[in-house]
Amino acid sequence: MLDSPWRADFPGILALAGEGQTYLDSAATAQKPQVVLDALLGYYSGGAANVHRAQHLPGERATRAFEASRLAAAHWLNAASSDEIIFTRGSTESLNLLAYSLEETFSAGDEIVISALEHHANLLPWQQLARRKALKLVVLPLDPLGAVDLHQAATLIGPRTRLLAVSQLSNVLGRWQPVRELLALARAHGALTVIDGAQGAVHGRHDMQAMGCDFYVCSSHKLYGPDGVGVLYGRRAALAQLRHWQFGGEMVQQADYHSASFRPAPLGFEAGTPPIAGVIALGATLDYLGGLDAAAVSGHEAALHLKLLAGLAARDGIQLLGTPHVALASFTVDGLHSSDLAHLLSEQGIAVRAGHHCAMPLMNSLGLSGAIRVSLGLYNDGADLERFFSALDKSLELLR
Ligand code: PMP
Repeated sequence: MLDSPWRADFPGILALAGEGQTYLDSAATAQKPQVVLDALLGYYSGGAANVHRAQHLPGERATRAFEASRLAAAHWLNAASSDEIIFTRGSTESLNLLAYSLEETFSAGDEIVISALEHHANLLPWQQLARRKALKLVVLPLDPLGAVDLHQAATLIGPRTRLLAVSQLSNVLGRWQPVRELLALARAHGALTVIDGAQGAVHGRHDMQAMGCDFYVCSSHKLYGPDGVGVLYGRRAALAQLRHWQFGGEMVQQADYHSASFRPAPLGFEAGTPPIAGVIALGATLDYLGGLDAAAVSGHEAALHLKLLAGLAARDGIQLLGTPHVALASFTVDGLHSSDLAHLLSEQGIAVRAGHHCAMPLMNSLGLSGAIRVSLGLYNDGADLERFFSALDKSLELLR
């Protein structure tokens, strides 16, 4: 029941299973399909070379493969051009890039709007920018289901709003956010917009031109690709507003000892040697994902999710956080510390996430010190959930 036709493509999930580990932490990082491992090995074993520099054959080959990944990422996101794709080291670096590169566009008293559910990666760069520049950080509250409250957002996004930065999909609550409406509110006031797609990019293809945000960030490692690679999409006109932020090789046009000029995006924002193997393997990841039957993947994940939610609802004292849309559930158990529960689960080979999920302010606002999060990937199956529930029952029996 609920077998995954893609499970065999992922050697990591099979290796973990062989060790007695049930991996239910894909929202933290996902396992990789064999084609991604092949692409990494293929680059190194075929002869590594730096990109955008050398005229020699290995360098040309690496550059071609690297730039093919940029095209694949642009296609994946339906960007208007591959020049709108900057490779970074992850969502965190993409968001820090934006916070530093946009710094000069703000004046004291300007407002940056985020939401109450942001991951630290989409909170702290803006919080620290606000402190450096005496800006006001406005936090949009949530409705009881775990989405940004649009009525309150309409009053909080206003003429002083210079930038809106919100998550597309909460990593704790698993709920899609009303991004379209929020973008419309921000645009009406001429604010720049940033969407944190670290979780959203994993669940469905998103069309940048249709969405109409200025910037969108995501991480390869959550999308079944290699770690150390992030994507920063920027609308051409928005990219033109960025000041260069990291300086060094490859991003420079002309340099003398006392001054320099810099390349435009994307290369102007990719200082130094990029994660070449990882970027190339991200291309292989997108090829792999693009070849899957998207409806079958989302149907499988939805069926697993239903089973997960039903199993949690059937047990006494379990409190679900919010109302998740995607194959993820965060929960607490009445009277128990989630760290104690997580400890017993991990002793039984169940790999789930416990703690504040890098969203301390959200957890505090919910009055919680921590929660357990189960998050599923396309390779999970019904048997994984059965093992989880049997370990959960045993843990609850012991703790109660
Ligand atoms: N935003 C969200 C919503 C996330 O879930 C994460 C990763 N947990 C990040 C940002 C940061 O991503 P990364 O660690 O890949 O930089």
